[in-house]
Amino acid sequence: MLFHSTRGGDNNRTFEEVLMQGLASDGGLFMPNEWPQVDLDHLRTLKTFSDIANYIVPKFTKSSFSDEEVTELLNSTWHNFSEENLVKIQNLDESNAILELFHGPTAAFKDFGLQLAAAFFNMSLNRQNKTAIVFGATSGDTGSAAIDACKRFDSIKSFILLPEGNMSDVQRRQMTTVDSPNVYTLLIDGTFDDCQTIVKKAFSERPFLKNDQFLLAVNSINWVRIIGQICYYFYASLKISEFKEPLNFSVPTGNFGNVFACYSAHKMGMPLNKILVAVNDNNILHRFFSNNDYSKQKVSETVSPSMDISIASNFERLVYDFYTNRNAKSCMKFYSDFPEIPIKIEDSMWSKSKDLFLSYCVDDFSTVNAMKDSYTDFNYLMDPHTAVASKAVEQLKDKLEGKTVILSTAHPAKFPDVIHNAGLKIKDTPDSLSVIFDKKEKIYNFPASKDAIFEFITSHNK
Ligand SMILES: *Cc1c(COP(=O)(O)O)cnc(C)c1O
Repeated sequence: MLFHSTRGGDNNRTFEEVLMQGLASDGGLFMPNEWPQVDLDHLRTLKTFSDIANYIVPKFTKSSFSDEEVTELLNSTWHNFSEENLVKIQNLDESNAILELFHGPTAAFKDFGLQLAAAFFNMSLNRQNKTAIVFGATSGDTGSAAIDACKRFDSIKSFILLPEGNMSDVQRRQMTTVDSPNVYTLLIDGTFDDCQTIVKKAFSERPFLKNDQFLLAVNSINWVRIIGQICYYFYASLKISEFKEPLNFSVPTGNFGNVFACYSAHKMGMPLNKILVAVNDNNILHRFFSNNDYSKQKVSETVSPSMDISIASNFERLVYDFYTNRNAKSCMKFYSDFPEIPIKIEDSMWSKSKDLFLSYCVDDFSTVNAMKDSYTDFNYLMDPHTAVASKAVEQLKDKLEGKTVILSTAHPAKFPDVIHNAGLKIKDTPDSLSVIFDKKEKIYNFPASKDAIFEFITSHNK
């Protein structure tokens, strides 16, 4: 199975090409040429998360890796998780369960996508006898998951830009206390958008690369990250309903990657009722699903910083697959004028949304209240991102049939200030988070200008 761009100008790519390239050459996002289908009866015979991954992942990778190679890779891919099946399912009451995705080493769900990405990067680099630089910007959890996933591979050096901003001390320290010779954390005197501009420049100019070296993107548009996330939707459905009844999933979202993984699992054959698209005050997705208005606005800082975005990059995949029925020309048209001209889908197409999607926007006040409520009612402490998804379920419950799964994307101990200010207590901090306060931070300070940064990378790329 091969891949192609949502904008029609980059086609018939192998999995490995898509993996190493990230973004398509025409600026679009890669999609599989067709949706591979699952056999639910076969899935019902499987038990562990690893069984599921071994069934799902090879469906996307055959154009580049043999099933034996992938099985071997998957044996050591997801590491340092505190749960044997990586995730944990907690029932809140008869109709609601929490899918805890934060038991990996960086205590957020991004370990699923990025550990898989790093393992495939490394396998590809080794067989081509090449090395790579990972260069990215982060406003929250992507950076720590990318650093953690890549640090064990000598073939990869990571340079991550952190804007001065809204991330928690825990999130920052997770990156700056990694004591590894192939990891560099750069604190930039600027915004996340400034950092993104520098990253984009690096990808177009490639100034610091040696011959035969890859520049790798770890942002959430890389298809491999979606694959890693598809696996836990199948696992949760198996454990909760054995695919006998369709479930609802409430997903706290920013860049729409996690929602798109849910949609992908459904397209592959997973029974699904509704996807709840739960956002904070950065509500471009809610404005679209409720009002057909996908227009860029300024980012505001919230208590759920990992969802503070102005545009949701993976949304382009939904425009392409769901709204235009894979018409690359139409998709291209929407995106060639965006963000100057907001995206508005033809009403007849847009009205399909309600078959599958519900959305809700939760402000900081309601987020904190949802955290307090769940603590009181269920003795369950949620992180602020999870609370956004939980609040959305409460608000939309009249529109939901059957069981609902709330995705918990981060451990509450990553956001101690928010928890503390809400008058709540963190009971158990994972070891991986408590040790970072005893370690020395290693950080390099830079103004928001590309030249000094590119020079730094060149001099550390010997
Ligand atoms: C990244 C992140 C999100 C948003 O995920 P998307 O795939 O970008 O929608 C939500 N919660 C947490 C804790 C995150 O780190």
